[in-house]
Amino acid sequence: MKVPLLDLKAQYKTIKSDIDAALIRMAESQNLILGPEVELLEKNLAQYLDAKHAIGVSSGTDALLIALMAIDLKPDDEVIIPTYSFFATAGVVSRLNAKPVFIDSDPLTFNLDPEKLESLITKRTKAIVPVHLYGQSAEMDKIMEFAEKHGLKVIEDGAQAIGTQYKDGRKVGNIGHIGCFSFYPSKNLGCFGDGGLVTTNDDDLAARLRILRVHGGKPKYYHKVIGGNFRIDALQAAVLNVKLPHLDSWTKRRQENAGLYTKFFIEKGLAETEGMLKYDDKNKVLLPEPVYKKYDLKYYHIYNQYVIRVQNRDELRKFMTENEIGTEIYYPVPFHLQECFADLGYKKGDFPVSEWCAAETVALPIYPELTNEQIEFTVDTVKKFIK
Ligand SMILES: *Cc1c(COP(=O)(O)O)cnc(C)c1O
Repeated sequence: MKVPLLDLKAQYKTIKSDIDAALIRMAESQNLILGPEVELLEKNLAQYLDAKHAIGVSSGTDALLIALMAIDLKPDDEVIIPTYSFFATAGVVSRLNAKPVFIDSDPLTFNLDPEKLESLITKRTKAIVPVHLYGQSAEMDKIMEFAEKHGLKVIEDGAQAIGTQYKDGRKVGNIGHIGCFSFYPSKNLGCFGDGGLVTTNDDDLAARLRILRVHGGKPKYYHKVIGGNFRIDALQAAVLNVKLPHLDSWTKRRQENAGLYTKFFIEKGLAETEGMLKYDDKNKVLLPEPVYKKYDLKYYHIYNQYVIRVQNRDELRKFMTENEIGTEIYYPVPFHLQECFADLGYKKGDFPVSEWCAAETVALPIYPELTNEQIEFTVDTVKKFIK
């Protein structure tokens, strides 16, 4: 049985006629830059995310970049970011000539560990970028309390967490000053290429973001600030307008798939519970811990990725590939060990939790269209390797 990591064609098949109609409508309208589809998407997503303003942009990376531009990040300002995330989180800070300051992860959620914030603060600290990794919220109360105490801005990287709720029920992206989202095809809400979104409840920031999105011109051709071309394509907005009404059912299915993994891993003797921290037995798999499940929320975790921890990760991966099961490593090298950041002066051992995340975790297929049989087969294959 083949189990791909992701099967975008399977999803397309379920909504083909609506998507095809939208694409043809766009071709006929030739209304390709901003306009009604983008406005509709922004209205619907603001509502979905409980945000006052939602602004469509060209990618998740550009969402982070424009957010940092909007808070007026200056060269040599410092931004605290997790060392364990997708590269974009760090890249945008350096691209604005500011300095990324890395922080270690919490061993249960893999999100930034707020207990480590205090030791990183300097006169130059300007912002924190918590990432809601794999679709689960970072510990926002502690992050916001710390940010307020030190007058910092909080830019949430919600690229993997559209709709995710924090323990008090709030949707992520709506807790800090600006929320950033991605519509890259592998995200829970993916477009047909690149796209992204910024959200904010602050009217002034929203106005700045909208101006920065069109080169900083307002009115057109008159520039008080320097922005860029950060527009989402109207064609992508049209695709997303078709997909958005399905997002809740897709997310629900991802949660059910995660539940099935837990059930099979426990039934087959590979795990005892969700979210263990230590291997008491090397024949065990450590399952993800949905920490906010106990708050009885609908979107406690949206499972953009389902990531387990195993010993002999690289050999397991090879075995899974031989058995036609797709897996991926998110992410094999934390930022502080990346060559491009060598002159920041970090070394191996500086962030031990992030380093074992990078060394021992592997993502299994979790997309909504997976069948129960494929999930059971995936667990059986892990078992065949371990036992
Ligand atoms: C996907 C992702 C991004 C970047 O989004 P793109 O749309 O691919 O530019 C940023 N941060 C995280 C955590 C992501 O997963």
